[in-house]
Amino acid sequence: MAAADNPEHKNADSKSKAMSNIILKADNLQRVFQVGSEQVHALRGVSFTVNKGEFVSIMGASGSGKSTLLNIMGCLDRPSAGEYYIDGNPISKCSKDELSTLRNRKIGFVFQSYNLLPRTSALENVELPLLYNNTVSNKERRERAVHALEQVGLQERLDHTPNQLSGGQQQRVAIARALINDPVILLADEATGNLDTRTSYEIMSLFQKLNREGKTIAFVTHEPDIADCTQRMIVLRDGHIIKDQNIEPKSAQAALEALPPSDTI
Ligand code: ADP
Ligand code: MG
Repeated sequence: MAAADNPEHKNADSKSKAMSNIILKADNLQRVFQVGSEQVHALRGVSFTVNKGEFVSIMGASGSGKSTLLNIMGCLDRPSAGEYYIDGNPISKCSKDELSTLRNRKIGFVFQSYNLLPRTSALENVELPLLYNNTVSNKERRERAVHALEQVGLQERLDHTPNQLSGGQQQRVAIARALINDPVILLADEATGNLDTRTSYEIMSLFQKLNREGKTIAFVTHEPDIADCTQRMIVLRDGHIIKDQNIEPKSAQAALEALPPSDTI
């Protein structure tokens, strides 16, 4: 049989193609915290892969392991057992320095509490991740920060400090800061947790736009209305995945338009 007709070759071929689309892979992740004499099993064997271009939500009640999982996905923490791969790199063999390099190059984080520097302009906040990167000139750093702020619709607010911005605008600055390194994945932990319904949908609409433009996103939330705006729902309970399914995403823009008119300015 010719090699091209050999089904095994075809399988190997499509397998390697599929492999190259995998941005991250969790293989039987476990995380145990020692608290005094007690062991807390935050993750009890979690496995899944995320492909390029996916928009995934990670759901579950408080204490189910969402933040623990996201910290490992973001190379902020290591599993107690199991392996985690980011963009093909297994992290168990990484030194602390290598892990932080992976984190800086590959990951963009967005947190519930924005974590912006006060008394510092939006532009400078966004430039921050590139400040100590000597392969990027001052001019390029500035241009990339302006571009990232344009991507989140804040081109008119470059010089504003966080206290001159609304919560939703501050979160947009944080998203721009997460985008500036062109990460392989954006990781968000309860990124709409401090925002009202309208602003939450505005932020989800922005994440949906970034996803349409090609960004891979994993979004931790305990709010079903927010998870409905993603394409795939992974649900944790007591450190296990109890559900992992693709869904038809709800349009955040449509949800926004369906809200009753706001009586606040
Ligand atoms: P979630 O984000 O879903 O609310 P977490 O991942 O924060 O859940 O926590 C999962 C479990 O692990 C909880 O029982 C929590 O108390 C425990 N936990 C998380 N982080 C730590 C830690 N640093 N030390 C001890 N226990 C922890
Ligand atoms: Mg949490």
